[in-house]
Amino acid sequence: NGVTLERIREFVWELPQEGEMRSPARVLASEALLEQISDDKTLEQLRNATHLPGITNYAICMPDGHQGYGFPVGGVGAMDAENGCISPGAVGYDINCGVRMMTTNLTYSDVQGHEEELVDALFDNVPSGLGGGGIVESDVDTVEDVLARGVDWALEHGYAVEEDLLHCEDEGMREGADPSKVTQKAKDRGKNQLGSLGSGNHFLEVQRVTDVFDGEVGEAFGLEKDQIVVLIHCGSRGLGHQTCNDYLRKIEQQHRGLLNQLPDKELAAAPAGSQLAEDYYGAMNAAINFAWVNRQLIMHRTRQVFERVFDRSWEEMEMNLLYDVAHNIAKKETHEVGGEQRELYVHRKGATRAFPAGHPDVPSAYRDVGQPVIIPGSMGAGSYVLRGGEASMDLTFGSTAHGAGRLMSRTQAKQDYWGGDVQQELQDRQQIYVKAQSGATIAEEAPGVYKDVDEVVRVSDALGIGDKVARTFPVCNIKG
Ligand code: 5GP
Ligand code: MN
Ligand code: MN
Repeated sequence: NGVTLERIREFVWELPQEGEMRSPARVLASEALLEQISDDKTLEQLRNATHLPGITNYAICMPDGHQGYGFPVGGVGAMDAENGCISPGAVGYDINCGVRMMTTNLTYSDVQGHEEELVDALFDNVPSGLGGGGIVESDVDTVEDVLARGVDWALEHGYAVEEDLLHCEDEGMREGADPSKVTQKAKDRGKNQLGSLGSGNHFLEVQRVTDVFDGEVGEAFGLEKDQIVVLIHCGSRGLGHQTCNDYLRKIEQQHRGLLNQLPDKELAAAPAGSQLAEDYYGAMNAAINFAWVNRQLIMHRTRQVFERVFDRSWEEMEMNLLYDVAHNIAKKETHEVGGEQRELYVHRKGATRAFPAGHPDVPSAYRDVGQPVIIPGSMGAGSYVLRGGEASMDLTFGSTAHGAGRLMSRTQAKQDYWGGDVQQELQDRQQIYVKAQSGATIAEEAPGVYKDVDEVVRVSDALGIGDKVARTFPVCNIKG
């Protein structure tokens, strides 16, 4: 693909700075993972990302990285918050797409025999797919409130308990959210979607813990072998997508000069300090709050479904939020760069914050062990819980991977797989019960379209950016 990498040390590769690049770039991967991105646009996109003004140290590709819209998925770019820029394409269309994991005191044997009942009840009660309708009937005023206050809104309306907020990145409320910067069109799209999974890659999966690698941290996270946990993956739905679109268009109108300097129009960015940068940041923060409420409502509904299926209160089943972490965001953070404290817009697109023990932004419940990091694998493979590693601040601006990473396009997947067959095989061979809005979704999300999550996590762990704590395996799964 015309991109030459230099090996720095095990799992660390560098694309040296040349031409118009404003910094080098780094890829964190094993040779096997590197091989899987050698034929697509990932490395070219990573190189293009180094043209963004104010890029600091290097543009970084996580072990699960793959090509995306302009900026690679699995990409981290920290841009100077004073002289740099903020780029909607480096955040992603699905603002605050992310994951949350809820623990329980149920074990796998409590659930065995109930899988079908459970998957049907979840599918019937958690809105999914492209169709309208969310868990909460809302109007534009409600949406405004959600955008401004995040999970605090859910707490007030009985959809959350105090503890849920404490176990969420930014306590479920991003400061600097400005609902007035989210367009009417975006709000209109959001109002019918509050509490809905969406389609395709988004899912709700009941899992069992198969391994606890670190007993001490596992205990701090409330994880035990054989325990049932629930993983929820979704984002800000049409509201976030529309917000990304709206600001890409505004950048095109107002900052053509910068746009024309960039090697790829999809990297469109607003210069730091411009009105548009401020507006996008306010709108993005608001969309982040919307996504947190979305996942909160889905978790609330999941608690209710478990209450019905297992005939016990959710408190009795100790259905507590372990953690909720975003993987499509930009955030103003202070990082040490060359011995200096610098304010940066840290873009994490398909990358997870992974702050180590002791960092003040790690919730107090986990401050001594490090921030929980949740890495989904696929509906037919393991997923992982990690904790932010000691090396993350130095290597990745406090970040690690967000998944196994896609290996195959959706179009290719539909040619290679038939949804009905995939579903049947998962059930017959692995006792995994999957229900989706369409067979096409199952084909597009077949386990074979994703990279090996074990390999991704092995690299993260070896580099010390996110350390292995536990592994889970699917029991049943609903897909959008
Ligand atoms: P993304 O946010 O990039 O769409 O997806 C994040 C990650 O979720 C993917 O890289 C993939 O590894 C993982 N994933 C996709 N579908 C499923 C699923 O049904 N179950 C689990 N556990 N993980 C999934
Ligand atoms: Mn998403
Ligand atoms: Mn996602």
